[in-house]
Amino acid sequence: MTVTTDGIATKTLKNYVNGSWAEASGAELHPVLNPATGETIAQVPFSTAAHLDEAVEAARAALPAWRGVSTIARARKLFELREKLEARKDEIARTVVLEMGKTLPDATAEVGRMIEMVEAATAIPTTMQGRILEDVARGVDAETIRQPVGVCAAIAPFNFPAMVPFWFLPFAIACGNTFVLKPSEQVPMTQALVFESIDSLDLPDGVVSLVNGGREIVEGILEHPGIDAISFVGSAPVAQIVYEGAAKTGKRVQALGGAKNHMVICPDAVVDPTVKGLIGSGFGAAGQRCMAGSVIVTVGEGHDRVIPTLIEETKKLNVGNGLDEETDVGPVISCEARDRIGGWVQKAVDDGADLVVDGRDPGGDPEGAFIGPTILDNVKRDDPIIGEEVFGPVIAVVNVDTLEEAIEVVNASKFGNGVSIFTESASAVRKFRHDVEVGMVGVNIGVAAPVAFFPFSGWKASFLGDLHAHGPDAVEFFTRKKTITSRYFSGGATSGSYFVEH
Ligand code: NAD
Repeated sequence: MTVTTDGIATKTLKNYVNGSWAEASGAELHPVLNPATGETIAQVPFSTAAHLDEAVEAARAALPAWRGVSTIARARKLFELREKLEARKDEIARTVVLEMGKTLPDATAEVGRMIEMVEAATAIPTTMQGRILEDVARGVDAETIRQPVGVCAAIAPFNFPAMVPFWFLPFAIACGNTFVLKPSEQVPMTQALVFESIDSLDLPDGVVSLVNGGREIVEGILEHPGIDAISFVGSAPVAQIVYEGAAKTGKRVQALGGAKNHMVICPDAVVDPTVKGLIGSGFGAAGQRCMAGSVIVTVGEGHDRVIPTLIEETKKLNVGNGLDEETDVGPVISCEARDRIGGWVQKAVDDGADLVVDGRDPGGDPEGAFIGPTILDNVKRDDPIIGEEVFGPVIAVVNVDTLEEAIEVVNASKFGNGVSIFTESASAVRKFRHDVEVGMVGVNIGVAAPVAFFPFSGWKASFLGDLHAHGPDAVEFFTRKKTITSRYFSGGATSGSYFVEH
């Protein structure tokens, strides 16, 4: 069944500021395109510094009262949000497909992960607890408590319109912070829908705001004196800009950048599930995941056991509109992205790689941004396509003789987001997980993206900062510690220096 976008009205999106929907008056409007058809599905305002100011002002004003709301009451708002999002799960997933292009099952899984973030944040009455030690000196106790950081802002990329903003939003507000979100200007509709659910929660005005826009809002966030912490997810060069900009103005920052993820195939890999894992990882979301397996490193006979089946199965994949049930691989985000990805493929071929599956002419709507699954075999270890992020449905295969060499290929990358090994050998896994310089490791798992209760822990150029997204790191990031040392003379404590009276 082919589902069309008929009936979706083209509308101008609004910001959500101080508890109300607000037109970004005077802002330039930019079209939001459906990447499968090229049609305009909404207009997004590129808000200005003045619009950001309004949101930050409201967030600052809301802070004292919100941090005073009990942790259990804040958690209950998240339980409520969970139910509201669950009720609109299908609608949110469809919107993800319309503006981002991934297939409906993939988008539905993304929305599931978004809701999981809310669930993890409901544990805040436990996870936000501090620690106490009695008798650090005679009659003296010490305790560390966690308090909110203040006004927190998040800047999101295009590839997970639902989930990525929720790596931050539920944890930030659960900890008693107030929060300003800038979604990607390429996919602003999903959060517009999600914020309808947030609006219906009756949170105090200003606790959560949404400001649409592009680079100007990011620069405004970096410089704004009213913002205390910034969470960024996007490409490596912009992560660097955000990290440096936040450091300059003394803000807490976590900046998640680009990636290049390796899939290491050992000679004993179990062929069919391995191929399934490689296809899901390399071509799911048309290769536009920061955990996409875009380099396969085959060890010895791993190549001839796995690659022929991979080629055969890849050729069976259907490219098309993500709303079509037969589609395995949707469009990439834009025609510019499609042409850039095609350029990478041609360059690798010119450098001597074997183009064993060529997806450059997959058919489909000529206005759509389609490029099909592509496999390049026998790629040189130092070819630029091995080192740089392509962010499309392109897998490059490198062949090596030993696991040690495979680990060398992995560790030569400037990125360190995700990596997977396919083998049944525990000793190979032990060596691999010990030696790889990558923050998220999969064993016989194609996309080893951690669940909400664990940190999303990329390394090297894939992450700038100290505290990662979600899991226990989220509570660390969204709170600051205060340590209190106390004694009471009426309770018998001595009045001497507590430094010496141990
Ligand atoms: P992007 O860097 O182009 O944009 C991300 C955000 O930064 C957007 O909100 C955009 O408005 C803003 N921005 C863009 N250019 C800017 C500039 N020059 N100055 C200031 N702000 C700017 O990224 P994208 O194309 O939207 O997303 C894809 C990238 O995100 C890929 O590199 C992917 O690997 C990465 N990503 C990383 C993770 C991770 O966890 N490490 C997760 C998802 C996506």
